[in-house]
Amino acid sequence: MYQRMHSQSNPPSKITPVVIPRSNHPISRKMLDEEVLKVLYRLYHHGFIAYLVGGSVRDLLLGKIPKDFDVATNAHPHEINTLFKNSRVIGRRFRLVHVFFKGGKIIEVSTFRSRSEFEEVQTEEGEILRTESFGTPEEDAFRRDIKINGLFYNIADFCILDYVGGMADLERQLIRTIGDPNERFQQDPVRMIRVIRHASRTGFSIDPQTYQAIIQHRGEIQKCSPSRIRDEFLRDLKEGAAQPSFDLMLRTGLLFSIFPDLQRAYGDRNPLKKKAQQYFLSLFGLVDQLNKMNRPVSESTLFALFLIPFIHVIAPEHPFLGRREQYHYFTQTIRWAVHQIMNRFSFPKGIKETASQILIAQSVLKKTFQRGFIPKKLRMKGYFQEAVLLYGIKAQANGERVPHLLRNAVPSDLLPWWPKEFKKRRRRSGRRFPSTSSID
Ligand code: ATP
Ligand code: MG
Repeated sequence: MYQRMHSQSNPPSKITPVVIPRSNHPISRKMLDEEVLKVLYRLYHHGFIAYLVGGSVRDLLLGKIPKDFDVATNAHPHEINTLFKNSRVIGRRFRLVHVFFKGGKIIEVSTFRSRSEFEEVQTEEGEILRTESFGTPEEDAFRRDIKINGLFYNIADFCILDYVGGMADLERQLIRTIGDPNERFQQDPVRMIRVIRHASRTGFSIDPQTYQAIIQHRGEIQKCSPSRIRDEFLRDLKEGAAQPSFDLMLRTGLLFSIFPDLQRAYGDRNPLKKKAQQYFLSLFGLVDQLNKMNRPVSESTLFALFLIPFIHVIAPEHPFLGRREQYHYFTQTIRWAVHQIMNRFSFPKGIKETASQILIAQSVLKKTFQRGFIPKKLRMKGYFQEAVLLYGIKAQANGERVPHLLRNAVPSDLLPWWPKEFKKRRRRSGRRFPSTSSID
């Protein structure tokens, strides 16, 4: 029934999984969305294997609410498609099925496979072969990235099937690749970013061998398609653990393998690299705080933040230039930095443009205190609030306050740190809060 294609990381022969009965694990059907239960049961009642897999099993075992639920089965894409009227077969390299529900919910159902679609099989001419590598459940477990992501929940008997030692790693709070990390990172270098993200999100430590393999193979990230790097990297920025992710990326050097230019700011070429790194990390610590408060930061603002310490290093104030020329020099530097860092990853033009505008607007915002007003032209811009938010995050990272003028120009909840602090202090003193710095 299956076209078996062994890769070295797959099990050499049939492996019996450790079976954890329902009484020995906390996952109950009540924790699963109604839609995923429907999908699992329909597959099961039609005689197919139906497992909940990947991140959702991991998150449920960690007591977290999964972002989404993924299902794996021995049904082939066309069989899945026939079972669910509201479904569509998708995927270029490996076909899988999206089952659509009311309210826009999508359950992803994929057939067990023997290798990841990104472990490329190429012809001598370099053409990527579209061989669909359907596999067995154990092959599907072994083709996954890290052990805590390789667990299956079986709807037939509510047991967890552990082929890869994922339960032990969850208990030990360890992030470790399935199989030899050197081999797994060479097969698909994007896994290095994933290891770092999962370690950062869970707070688990990275197994020393896996960690060393990142250091050894970090340069190979350049072989991956820029769009995959971009997508994994964006998840680092957005999913609430940007600060620890960047910390690990700096420690392992993976950040420099992805963005070689950043060496100038955070690498040995900058004598003040520690300070630049700290500033960078504190900016993203604040982004994580905002995410936890359910205030996601736009992609343009994230990129602008990402570039700020770099721009500080490459564009110090130029003492011999007049004001106009300084401004021109500054805007040119920003445009160059945005182009240099982001172009390779084909970020949408709109995001790059807004990131540049937000960065350029910072010098105008700074001048508002001297002038005592915000130019109407700037207030009317679509990116005005993003520019103020960026200003606010920088101010917080530097331990400065945001001028009233700016706070009053945006909704009170845009800058979560200041309005509250301001009101509290005012009430306590009963007087107007005195201005303590030239910027406020
Ligand atoms: P999240 O909660 O962020 O969605 P996740 O672990 O579910 O985390 P996904 O990107 O949704 O991450 O991937 C789903 C599953 O597919 C993973 O749990 C993992 O088992 C597997 N996987 C994803 N990317 C890879 C990869 N590059 N190599 C091997 N397995 C992968
Ligand atoms: Mg997922």
